[in-house]
Amino acid sequence: MKTKLPSLLPKISLLCLLGVIWSATLAAESQSVCDRVRALLPKVASVRGLPAPQRLGCEELSVAELEKVKRQQYAQSDGSSMLSYEELAYRAIGLVPDSFAYERCLVKGILPDLLATYEPSKRAILIPAGRPASDALLAHEIVHALQDRYVHIGVREKKLKSTDQSLGFYGLLEGDAVRIQAIFEQPQRVEGAKAEVGALTQNTESGECHLPESIARNFDFPYSFGALFVDRIVKGENGAARLGELMQKPPQTSSQILHRLWNPQWGRYSDKPISVPRAWRLPAGQVVYSDSLGEYMTGVLLSATATISRAEAILTGRGWLSDRLEVLRSKDATQVRWRTDWQSLAAAEHFQRNFIGRLSENYNIELNQDAAGLVASTAAGRWIGLGRRAESVLFIATNHSSTAYRK
Ligand SMILES: [Zn+2]
Repeated sequence: MKTKLPSLLPKISLLCLLGVIWSATLAAESQSVCDRVRALLPKVASVRGLPAPQRLGCEELSVAELEKVKRQQYAQSDGSSMLSYEELAYRAIGLVPDSFAYERCLVKGILPDLLATYEPSKRAILIPAGRPASDALLAHEIVHALQDRYVHIGVREKKLKSTDQSLGFYGLLEGDAVRIQAIFEQPQRVEGAKAEVGALTQNTESGECHLPESIARNFDFPYSFGALFVDRIVKGENGAARLGELMQKPPQTSSQILHRLWNPQWGRYSDKPISVPRAWRLPAGQVVYSDSLGEYMTGVLLSATATISRAEAILTGRGWLSDRLEVLRSKDATQVRWRTDWQSLAAAEHFQRNFIGRLSENYNIELNQDAAGLVASTAAGRWIGLGRRAESVLFIATNHSSTAYRK
């Protein structure tokens, strides 16, 4: 069902106030969820201080239809096979466990707990039929519709080049939405993010597609850290104006969300392909996928290691400067390359040490913790290499048979 808003917003606003009284006495249960969206729109627009759009789509969909829309979203931004390359890369560095079928399960894993979503390509709020969506949650999605009016979410999404850039962008948008959601949650105020995605880490319905912690934390970042970021901005000097500026020029990296004294020198996405030492005798290949994980997801990756505490992992991520993750294909080989750059030699060594720990667990082989340069063949017929030059750490995983592993 797609509904359109009449253009006489002031009248709607007045009716809406009356509607609150009616709904309490007469018609509470007869109001459809999209009627509630329409009734809430002017109120949310006024609280957020943005003009309400004249048209806002609203559709109730079955879970199967919703899955289709979400899958298209991934296909649109990444091309249809991108999730499979992402799976390959994330597995190689130990971010996603073998037990989780990333490509097949990523969307399926989100769906059981999805209560509402804003879809920029349709400029509509989509609601899975039969699931309870509170007014506060609908207010959250309406904020996205208001943002879309001047941020053009769909256009910007297509330009996002990396996981880290996405965390910066969505940290701003979700942080803003969570803040308004919290205002509508009174009197039974709960933590902002919980209603929309908090259950992702606890869901029981998704079964085999239950999201691993690393991915759940990726999805959670914009709601938790993003909310703190936006709160800090709004309560700071010229808060409203500063928020408006950020909407025009959104954060480019998770570091910008995390650090109050963020330095713009940190965290540039690098378009430059990774070069590897000649001695490693790796075949040239075509880059078919590239990403940048950023400070936050690098910390998440390390914290998946049993021998590294979450605190240690977060502190290791602190010295992050930039990184680039690639998948290359050639005629008979696939390679995953990951170069991380650090702010100091100490930070690079710190990361290298802990990353060796992560690799040891991921490949179930013993690796020398002190090795400055490291090569190993793994049980699955793979070859992995790790090297450091000054503040850069380079990791390679490949199935290439003639790669120069000599021992
Ligand atoms: Zn949201």
